[in-house]
Amino acid sequence: MAHDTPARAGSTRPDGGSYEVTRSEEEWRTQLTPAEYHVLREAGTEAPFVGEYTDNKARGTYSCRACGAPLFESTTKFDSHCGWPSFYSPLAGDSVIYLEDASLGRVRTEVRCATCGGHLGHVFEGEGYGTPTDQRYCINSISVRFAPENA
Ligand SMILES: [Zn+2]
Repeated sequence: MAHDTPARAGSTRPDGGSYEVTRSEEEWRTQLTPAEYHVLREAGTEAPFVGEYTDNKARGTYSCRACGAPLFESTTKFDSHCGWPSFYSPLAGDSVIYLEDASLGRVRTEVRCATCGGHLGHVFEGEGYGTPTDQRYCINSISVRFAPENA
């Protein structure tokens, strides 16, 4: 299977550089829960409609659950009704990186944290959601941690 997971990609970014935050898989296993590890390091997918942030409407910032890098703002979150938290844009263009994912028999664009390489989800385009970018960043709740604005 051609699906390249962060676990197999190790500490190398798709552009050949190194991630700012690198840990051995053993260290990640210690730091993350088994469910978090499966999604972030093995590119797993959380079941739809069960993630803790799917319907979260509070204002604040979503950061990487593995390394803490800020990734998405609540202002770009929208109701996609797809079962996962959906954003139309990352916080900054360089906060995430993209990989081609040919698993499931079709090509999708995988989204990973640019700082540690943790798997976040996928991005889809041109689905007709009325958002400024016409993109849907379909993100696993378990890959991120939400901090309310005034906390
Ligand atoms: Zn990260």
